[in-house]
Amino acid sequence: MIDTHAHLDGLDDPRAALGRAWEQGVEAVAAVAMDAAGGRLALRLAREDQRVWPCLGLHPWRVTQETWRQEVDFVARHLAQAAALGEVGLDYKKKVKKQIQRAALAAQLDLAAAQGLTALVHCRFSERRVLAMLKEAGVRAVFHWFAAPELLAEVLAAGHFISATPSAAVSPPHRAAIEACPLERLVLETDTPVAHAGQPSEPGRVIETCRLVAEIKGLAVPQVAAVTGANARSLFKLPRPLALL
Ligand SMILES: [Zn+2]
Repeated sequence: MIDTHAHLDGLDDPRAALGRAWEQGVEAVAAVAMDAAGGRLALRLAREDQRVWPCLGLHPWRVTQETWRQEVDFVARHLAQAAALGEVGLDYKKKVKKQIQRAALAAQLDLAAAQGLTALVHCRFSERRVLAMLKEAGVRAVFHWFAAPELLAEVLAAGHFISATPSAAVSPPHRAAIEACPLERLVLETDTPVAHAGQPSEPGRVIETCRLVAEIKGLAVPQVAAVTGANARSLFKLPRPLALL
């Protein structure tokens, strides 16, 4: 089982949480950044343990007029060390100018294209625009915590993947998307430290995501773990050369 989306900088003790995940049989955890501070921690943890896959990116919530260029510059300087670009995207519900969000996303997608990296994308009220920008940049993506089943066919036709979170226990649109998505296009995640069903997440909860996907799709847990694990390994650039870390 692989947690493809965890913000380890959101945990009080990320190393202890990782330790618990390994004990429970989690094979790898993608440490996803929202900004340079999160990116630095992801790189540090990846240096300590190869099962941590570092991902770098500037999240739309962290985009500001004053700092986005500097943040994207951090991504540019360190992306060769990353297993994927992320978390990036567009969030039209947030009060950050759409134009600046798009500028930050476009610059980062170009960087991912140059490195041949997958993008881990967040989109709210912006799915079509994100799809168009991915197409223009020639970048494959994971649509993280995907809860727009009406857009699934378009996302799949463009060659992208979606990810499932423990919120599949309570979110009908998320469940519908998981049910309709072929297992070969699905990966598992926790979005640590986000709370699902009132419980804060840590990477070990990816086991719960796996059980939920198995239940929704009427499949056996080991099959879901094996196929989604293989999907994750094909999407992330691994292993990163130690010399780079
Ligand atoms: Zn996230």
